[in-house]
Amino acid sequence: MVVVLREDASAEERQAVEDVLASAGIVSAAVRWAEHDLYILEAALSSSLQQSLAALPAVERVATVKSPYVLASRELHPEKSLVRVGHAVFGAAEPVLIAGPCSVEGEAQIIEAAEAAAAAGAHVLRGGAFKPRTSPYSFQGLGLDGVRMLAEAGARVGLPVVTEVMEPAMAEVVADHADMLQVGSRNMQNFPLLRAVGRTGRPIMLKRGFASTLDEWLLAAEYILAEGNPHVVLCERGIRGFDTHTRNVLDLACVPLLGRLTHLPIIVDPSHATGHRDLVLPMGVAAIAAGADGLMVEMHPHPDAALSDAAQTIDAATLRALATQAHSVRAALLPANARDELDTSQTMPRQPATRLG
Ligand code: PEP
Ligand code: MN
Repeated sequence: MVVVLREDASAEERQAVEDVLASAGIVSAAVRWAEHDLYILEAALSSSLQQSLAALPAVERVATVKSPYVLASRELHPEKSLVRVGHAVFGAAEPVLIAGPCSVEGEAQIIEAAEAAAAAGAHVLRGGAFKPRTSPYSFQGLGLDGVRMLAEAGARVGLPVVTEVMEPAMAEVVADHADMLQVGSRNMQNFPLLRAVGRTGRPIMLKRGFASTLDEWLLAAEYILAEGNPHVVLCERGIRGFDTHTRNVLDLACVPLLGRLTHLPIIVDPSHATGHRDLVLPMGVAAIAAGADGLMVEMHPHPDAALSDAAQTIDAATLRALATQAHSVRAALLPANARDELDTSQTMPRQPATRLG
């Protein structure tokens, strides 16, 4: 249940709501969401308690939300959310293409990658600097130096950048350099990290845990939203299966399914999902056909020389083909009257990220 407060409620009137909840032994979380202060209650309220709350001067309404992920659900927020990162808009007509190397390897490499990504039609540049590698002996990334190199390369070609944060303590400093923060698959349920990235106010790309259910994923998104940060994009990157031919199993059914459950944009990463560069183009196109709001792919100017994830890394020519095909597939699926939006939606003015808390 959700208690929505009136904007003009006084401190005493708000306190009266807290007093009623406390005396009934109800545990609630106070959340700022879409210009409203809310109390989110896990327990269902008796109808008499609902009535006494609704009668308080501070209360605008008491809403019943059945989903455990209250803020992420379509129940409280029926229309699709738009998440802006630079000029890119996730959730709009044109699919957003994020591309770049698995890891930032050095200045020259990331500049070359940025130029190739921009020329191929990417909207956002990616590059890992804090790398969650399975082995402690694998290349671990360049850390903050890598984040700075990525930001400089992005600025040089006019693309916003996204990079992964692995520790809560690093969220603020990475947010000072990156336009969007990524929470990786292995950290999807790192709750202190989710809260910390949420508090930066930056747009967050939340990748699906490789063994996580959709409900667990949406509840992880809820942690970010509950910090008052509505800028969340979900990224399906494959889940663990039994077949070793692909690195993971790309769960494309989750794309239209999530579209019913949540208003958050959803993108697909066919690189980590498949582990094979020749599968990235067909599965990227399939993801757009399934309704994804964008793609994230690993692209390197010299894929075979990539220091991490070379096998799944495409070259610039393949990225160009993917950009063209993704655009055509989306255009074919849109109703004729919505096609005009395709070319203009990415040029909406940039909304600077607001810092919260
Ligand atoms: C990545 O995108 O750099 C990455 C490590 O992906 P994932 O967290 O999905 O494994
Ligand atoms: Mn990778």
